Amino acid sequence: AVQNFDVVVIGAGGAGFSAAIEAKQAGANVIILEKMPTVGGNTLISGGEMNAPNTWVQQAVGITDDNVELFYEDTMKGGDNVGNPEMVRILAEQALGSAEWLRDEIKVEFIPDQLFQFGGHSRKRALIPVGHTGAELIKKFKAKTDELQIPIKTDMKAEKLLTDANGKVTGVEATSGAGQKITFNASKGVIIASGGFGSNVEMRVKYNPELDDTYMSTDTPGSTGDGIVMAQEINADITNMKNIQTYPICNPKTGVISLVADSRFDGAILINQSGERFVEELERRDVISQAILAQEGRYAYQLWNQGLEEISKTIAAHPDEYEQMIKDGVLYKADTLEDAAKFFNIDPAKLQATIDKVNEYAKTGKDLDFNHRAGLVSLAKGPYFIQKAVPSVHHTMGGLVIDTDTRVLNTEGKVIEGLFAAGEVTGVIHGSNRLGGNAIADIITFGRISGKQIVK
Ligand code: ADP
Repeated sequence: AVQNFDVVVIGAGGAGFSAAIEAKQAGANVIILEKMPTVGGNTLISGGEMNAPNTWVQQAVGITDDNVELFYEDTMKGGDNVGNPEMVRILAEQALGSAEWLRDEIKVEFIPDQLFQFGGHSRKRALIPVGHTGAELIKKFKAKTDELQIPIKTDMKAEKLLTDANGKVTGVEATSGAGQKITFNASKGVIIASGGFGSNVEMRVKYNPELDDTYMSTDTPGSTGDGIVMAQEINADITNMKNIQTYPICNPKTGVISLVADSRFDGAILINQSGERFVEELERRDVISQAILAQEGRYAYQLWNQGLEEISKTIAAHPDEYEQMIKDGVLYKADTLEDAAKFFNIDPAKLQATIDKVNEYAKTGKDLDFNHRAGLVSLAKGPYFIQKAVPSVHHTMGGLVIDTDTRVLNTEGKVIEGLFAAGEVTGVIHGSNRLGGNAIADIITFGRISGKQIVK
């Protein structure tokens, strides 16, 4: 079977939705192909938080000293200056516009008076969607594509990019869940928005042998790097492939990311089996992950109290995850510190000594052990929450090489006509390490650019 469109988008995550909506609004006849039975990808199961400087929420909570330059610097530095400066500049400059577009055009609801300060950021600048997950984004994106009558074919796996005699991309060959082969012609071109390859162990090991199957993954099963492989078959260039990020605080039974543990951004501490802190809790994900793997047993515990929950509200936001972790025996609510210690066989006196120091540092505002950048919070009062955690594969920084118009480049650095890419499938923005809250900013910003550019 053959179907004809102007634009074919591969992947129904945040990047694909943003691309499709912009292309459609610019007048193109667009279709989205999604290989899974449901839409959303990793965007859906993420926390959904999004960094932008100078937002209405920063204004509401009285943060007046953030700006594009600081966000740019944090992002470059967070990726060890490996990211492409030109692309990071676009991200920093357009993140606010992307956030306002989500709010005004897509009708995404953000919490009006709360922000996260993810690791590596010098300011609190991550907007939080209601519900603290990407479900709010995907729900509203789906409603918008329905309104714009953009067809989404689920259970439709893109397998191969089709090209004409000049090498221009002219469409996609796909296979339906029932095994039917369908050709989707794309007169204006194809946008690859198929996400990363965190769920593809073979591909992980090919580029970074350390990240074998001893690591679980936070990612959806759809994150297998298809778009990278497909584009490479027509000579697309790839970069930064070895840079694979683990998320430090995941469920040791399942590998699933812990969103309940976002209390870390408001002052929850990390301790090891000896009851001692061992890293600054607002360090980068790669640094914290490595620090955890260097502890006895290659795991850590996160500890916080009811007072912090009342600030972060992460248990209130993620009741299902909370209940599941209690059931799995990886999270425990304790009235006293001693109970918390005993549940996980930590020496209660050691833990008490650690907390005494934290309370002291909270008072003076100076963490003399690890220089906590936001300043520690007193954990003198119970009840307490203590949660066991391991790092798990989360984000693949590497991927396709794109230019500032999101055109895919080949191994000679030349544009492949008719081929665009955006989102986690690309590899030029986050360098060695992606900072928290920067994925949503990236996929929305460059997804939108790809949708606008492809119809030009
Ligand atoms: P991003 O954050 O870049 O938008 P996501 O992981 O949120 O990435 O979304 C990528 C989507 O692409 C996922 O829903 C995934 O199932 C889908 N996908 C991956 N490979 C293919 C493929 N070969 N054909 C169609 N869809 C795909």
